Amino acid sequence: MKIMKFGGTSVGRPERMHQVKELITADDDKKIVVLSALSGTTNALVGIGEALAEGKKELAKQKIDALNEHYNNFYLELLTSKAGRAKAAQIIKEHFEFLTIILKISFNEAINKDILAQGELLSTKLFYTLLQELEIPAVFLPALEFMSIDENDEPELSKIRQRLEAILTRYPEDSIFITQGYICKNHRNEVDNLKRGGSDYTASLIGAATSASVVEIWTDIDGMHNNDPRIVEQTRAIAHLSFDEAAELAYFGAKILHPASIWPAQLHNVPVKLLNTMEPDAPGTTITGGGDGTVGVKAIAGKDGITALKIKSSRMLLAYGFLRKVFEIFEKYRTAIDMITTSEVAISLTMDDVSHLKEITAELQKLGKVEVDHHLSIICIVGNNIMEEKGVLNKIMDSLEQIPLRMVSYGGSRHNVSLLIDGKQKERVLQSLNQRLFDFE
Ligand code: ASP
Ligand code: MG
Repeated sequence: MKIMKFGGTSVGRPERMHQVKELITADDDKKIVVLSALSGTTNALVGIGEALAEGKKELAKQKIDALNEHYNNFYLELLTSKAGRAKAAQIIKEHFEFLTIILKISFNEAINKDILAQGELLSTKLFYTLLQELEIPAVFLPALEFMSIDENDEPELSKIRQRLEAILTRYPEDSIFITQGYICKNHRNEVDNLKRGGSDYTASLIGAATSASVVEIWTDIDGMHNNDPRIVEQTRAIAHLSFDEAAELAYFGAKILHPASIWPAQLHNVPVKLLNTMEPDAPGTTITGGGDGTVGVKAIAGKDGITALKIKSSRMLLAYGFLRKVFEIFEKYRTAIDMITTSEVAISLTMDDVSHLKEITAELQKLGKVEVDHHLSIICIVGNNIMEEKGVLNKIMDSLEQIPLRMVSYGGSRHNVSLLIDGKQKERVLQSLNQRLFDFE
């Protein structure tokens, strides 16, 4: 079994959907095809939900109509047969009727999740209709029948596995299965989702659940790059990454992969490949368990919107248990800490989720003096055994020259150095690190 996941841009235009069809029929392997919503759709659905949350029904209605229009044009270009078009028109009608009914009932978070689910439901149903029109045998596999999260929003991997096994045994002869990324059921059996960008996560979970031979993530870029291609001119795709390196890069800013999508594949040792729909023969990036034996820096990523907290306390001096007290406050508010450094009298740490910043700061103030700093960026430098490559730290420091460093984390793992800088300096730092750390002939 292999898993092939196609992102929003890969299904976002009728001709791209035809390209996806080519890719999934290129061999006879058994495969589960995971689709995102058409590009722009989830954003539009978020907008509809926001308008409804603010009680702006007229605005929500306009947004629904505009999206409906988009789909009405889309299917006419996608399909040519009368039967296919009639079927697509019916699918679109049903889903937009559903959205229109929602306008009339009182809005809540569960309904919002229903709204957000429409994108993947539409894309998969339209794609399935295309396969039917072309008489390509395939099975439609509704994600809501097997994908689930528990009360902590964590995927229930063993249940997902059991359900999928039961479903798949019903189709021993079939080789193409089509399902939705992103959407799932929650512990109340309501429609929910795996958070923005979660289709990658779906693919990885299915890969783990079926012990797949590979999880292929098809996007519009030729793999994970050694630096941010939107900011740095000379970047290149990285041929191989370990799961740890990829997780680090995905978490710290490489937008190509949802950070949570590493662990299920890693747990079940399923290789993940990042491939380009527009350039299907390009090697892309392969992510596997072992390293590739090389030593040195492989990639740099930057993450914006970081907030740093410094807690200063003379009581920390020679005391034990201080860090525990600090961490307990973060645990209480379910807020993750990304970077941390300590001195004998102070501790600095960073977070990107500031939804409980007020409460956290108030409680930390009982432990010491607290300083808060916003708009920072973490620059994450990743590679194999970076610490063994002579002079890496020197090169990094050299390329920072005039730029004030707020925090450095080195030695936390063998494959990562993280720097905290003012967000305004991010572009400059990414560019100068690129020049200093990579040789481009
Ligand atoms: N459609 C969802 C989003 O835009 C999930 C995904 O594409 O991964 O976030
Ligand atoms: Mg994505």
